[in-house]
Amino acid sequence: MKEAEIRSRTAHNTYLALVSADAERLAQDHSAFAAIDCPCCGGRSIIEEFQKAGFRYVSCESCATLFVNPRPTFDSLMALYADSPSTRYWVEEFFKPMAEARRARIFRPRAQYVAEHFPDVARGRVGDIGAGFGLFLEELQALWPAANLVAIEPSADMAAILRTKGIPVVEQMLEQVPPSEAGFDLLTAFELFEHLHDPAGFLRHVARLLRPGGVLYLTTLSGFGFDIQVHWASSKSVSPPHHLNFANPASMARLLERTGFDVIEIATPGELDWDIVEGNWQQEGIDPGRLWRTVSRHGGDDAKRRLQGWIRESGFSSHLRAVARRRG
Ligand SMILES: [Zn+2]
Repeated sequence: MKEAEIRSRTAHNTYLALVSADAERLAQDHSAFAAIDCPCCGGRSIIEEFQKAGFRYVSCESCATLFVNPRPTFDSLMALYADSPSTRYWVEEFFKPMAEARRARIFRPRAQYVAEHFPDVARGRVGDIGAGFGLFLEELQALWPAANLVAIEPSADMAAILRTKGIPVVEQMLEQVPPSEAGFDLLTAFELFEHLHDPAGFLRHVARLLRPGGVLYLTTLSGFGFDIQVHWASSKSVSPPHHLNFANPASMARLLERTGFDVIEIATPGELDWDIVEGNWQQEGIDPGRLWRTVSRHGGDDAKRRLQGWIRESGFSSHLRAVARRRG
């Protein structure tokens, strides 16, 4: 898979400029911010990393999670996602034109992963948190026609689209979903974790909504990811106020353990890290440093493919997958 197959460079950069404008607007209102301890391990010793668009990124001395601190409150984030120029652009210009490509390359493989690993849930109740256009649920429904699928999606616009597809919607932020909805066999949350104001609170609420033994499957950005480590503050993935939490494989495991889960799998199955770094260098002149400039210029396709294989298998892709079971 190549980056160009799932997102347009121009649309991505326009989107990031709008996100940056959101960040600068939000950063002017200090009442919209709250200081936190490490979102993964709860640690209080922090290391200063960098500032970006008025936001302060720090890392945890104990578990190395990279995070924004202080960070926007839950309410200010909710207002941002409900209605902002960046959110509208993301839906209309960034996601929609690539939706079918993303369905085939991203959402179908996720549905296949679920169907393969959790066949006992085929007739169960499955919720997708932040379901968006419902691509994952549509793909899962095709594999599991008897499953009871629910979208958990706070955006009224998305909820309307989901309903036209016949997908039932709980139109709320996960943190506000009432206990009467509990009893899920499986909950999924794709590319949501990095946006959360309070990841531990989110996961505790997920645990309450799952039945004992129920499964959580999430994907997020890893702060140990190759492209993020190479570009660091200038990484496009480091985009406040949207991306606040960059866990890593070990800190994600620690967080899941302390919020009521047993880890089934933590992996970094990403395919794009090298392509992102090389594309940023070759097309935009974003310097990855001497070693990677040399690999880009003089490395063969086979060397680059094996590099990405090493990144993926050694836990250093920025695409992190965590699968865990609710204890109890
Ligand atoms: Zn920590």
